[in-house]
Amino acid sequence: MTSSAPVADPIGTIARGTGLLLASLISLTVGTSLTAGAAVALEVEIRPTNPQLGDTLTILVQAESADEPPPVVTMGDRTFPTFPLGNNQFQALLPTTPLDDPGRVVVQVTGETVVRNLAVWVRDRSFPTQSLWISGASDLGTDYEFDRVDEFKELVSDQQLWSGSFLRPTSGPVTTIYGVRRYYNGVFAEDYYHRGVDYAAPTGTPVVAPAAGIVALVDHEANGFEIHGNTVGLDHGQGVASIFLHLNRIDVREGDRVEAGQVIGTVGNTGISTGPHLHWGLYVHGRSVDPVPWRGGAE
Ligand SMILES: [Zn+2]
Repeated sequence: MTSSAPVADPIGTIARGTGLLLASLISLTVGTSLTAGAAVALEVEIRPTNPQLGDTLTILVQAESADEPPPVVTMGDRTFPTFPLGNNQFQALLPTTPLDDPGRVVVQVTGETVVRNLAVWVRDRSFPTQSLWISGASDLGTDYEFDRVDEFKELVSDQQLWSGSFLRPTSGPVTTIYGVRRYYNGVFAEDYYHRGVDYAAPTGTPVVAPAAGIVALVDHEANGFEIHGNTVGLDHGQGVASIFLHLNRIDVREGDRVEAGQVIGTVGNTGISTGPHLHWGLYVHGRSVDPVPWRGGAE
């Protein structure tokens, strides 16, 4: 997860010929002032310093004064919420996925009087591929489950409930990593990537919350969760959410607050599953990101 290569440059500043070069940590103090006159400071730091597709970008903004409104952070055509960390500091989390173009992306941070444009280089990454041959059309999956899961993934609540690295949600070997791409009947599936990590473990193996959260989704195969199977969704706050699929038993209810390491259910083989396993998907603002960096580099 760590690297020392330079990854970002303040393109607005470079366009003006100041030629500011950045080392491994991005800390910008020269602003492009919206108002004529004195430059106003707005420090922005982006982590990690050398991201790759699937990483979550953390944008840390140090505002000048306490009366400033929260800065606005955009990447591409999306605007992301910022949350106060105290001491005039704000945080935004930006997802990247295997479906994004690698290379240069621009993160724009708009403060009360300053706009910062930061170019971030997101490294390409080669994801493993699987080839599946399928005969006939599958009509599995219900609107009910897709609607409920989509709604869950869009949750953004204010409070950051997680702290530190996420825990491994169950025992057993990783059988499919995040980001695996697929060919169906020899044709590359442009929109598909494995939106999570699979752990193989016997039915009944405990599944624990990898981080604290509020249980925001509980549903069952018998209710129409034909693909996902018995499912638990945890809202970790600030647009970060975990989903656990194919469970056997579920030990929590919607609205419960769970702590990191608390058992939420057991591994099963419900929904579309070819054997007992846990699928853990980690979402940031509705996009499935690689959980490995959140696990401190571990699977
Ligand atoms: Zn999976």
